[in-house]
Amino acid sequence: MHPSSIIINIKTFQDNLNYIRQTLSENVKICLPVKANAYGHGIKGISKLAELFVDYFAVACLNEGALLRKTGIEKPILVLGAIDEDQIPGLIENNLDITISSFFKAKLVSDFCKRIGKSCKVHIKVDTGMNRVGIKAKNAASLIDYIHSDHNLELEGIYSHLAESEEIDRTFTTSQIESFRKVCSYAKSKKEDIICHLANSGALCYSPESYLDMVRPGILSYGYFPGKKEPQYPLNQVKPSFMLKTKIAYFKAIEAGESVSYNRKYRTDKLTRIVTLPIGYGDGYRRALSGKGTVLIRGHKYPISGTICMDMTMVDIGSEGTAYVGDEAVLIGSQGKEQITLEEIADICQTNTYEILCSLSERIPRIYA
Ligand SMILES: *Cc1c(COP(=O)(O)O)cnc(C)c1O
Repeated sequence: MHPSSIIINIKTFQDNLNYIRQTLSENVKICLPVKANAYGHGIKGISKLAELFVDYFAVACLNEGALLRKTGIEKPILVLGAIDEDQIPGLIENNLDITISSFFKAKLVSDFCKRIGKSCKVHIKVDTGMNRVGIKAKNAASLIDYIHSDHNLELEGIYSHLAESEEIDRTFTTSQIESFRKVCSYAKSKKEDIICHLANSGALCYSPESYLDMVRPGILSYGYFPGKKEPQYPLNQVKPSFMLKTKIAYFKAIEAGESVSYNRKYRTDKLTRIVTLPIGYGDGYRRALSGKGTVLIRGHKYPISGTICMDMTMVDIGSEGTAYVGDEAVLIGSQGKEQITLEEIADICQTNTYEILCSLSERIPRIYA
């Protein structure tokens, strides 16, 4: 067994999906983003746990979609990213819904489908202000017409993405929602049952008028609020299901005036006890936490001493601290009365919760309990 692990609480995760379900009217679908290893939670495990609670999955790329199919996921899977021509056979072979953002890509997919005599499911991506990928809203109608009339392509859905849905100031978000809703009513006039979808976690929390036919909450499903403001009940009930822990690998006492770790950035001014944890930035435990982060051992919060190494991290438990090799150390999560939140870690690293979650490496086993 690897000494470090990411523990996912199954019930907490599934409860989160239930709170989201309770927020929506009956006909609104849930699409769960499981890109980037399900925000670090483990794409295979999470998809299996979620399959009965959601209607759709979203992934970033072909590899992730193919992995879901290999895992036995049968629900529809939308690939959000812009596709490369080489990937079209793989996308179709795995029965993945393809995102189309231009006439050029529509033609490529259509030609391929014609050649193999199969129709392919596609979603049109509309750009309403993110300026990433997507056909501009003002040109969307002609792409809708084009795809709708091409019998090699099945127009399953149409979607857009919001740039700042978690912000308190909703001016830009509202303009994006309005712009997309106009495109949707055109799309519905062509195909009544087309799935219109827009809401990410921020919009799910703060903009009910964005729910349309399906929502795509990522970070909220994993238990984190996307913005500073707490959403309303029942969404405010979501909780992190995730914990990062390891086991103490080594213990020693060192004298005053010694240094710890690379470049000797940590100096002792008294006799103290140092424990070594078998986890480092090679596992995604970010080096930016060096000298700033804390860990929980035996219910106490202790500072990281010195530079985090690729595979190990040292912690100063003080001259009175007690710890034994094999003791649990919690890096993210709670122990006894203390806790270290993902938000705290993200703040120290000057990034967001998403990036910390995605950087946790495959080396750490994910355990569902
Ligand atoms: C990642 C992603 C989401 C989910 O975003 P959250 O902020 O995690 O809810 C939704 N839609 C698209 C297109 C995405 O790329």
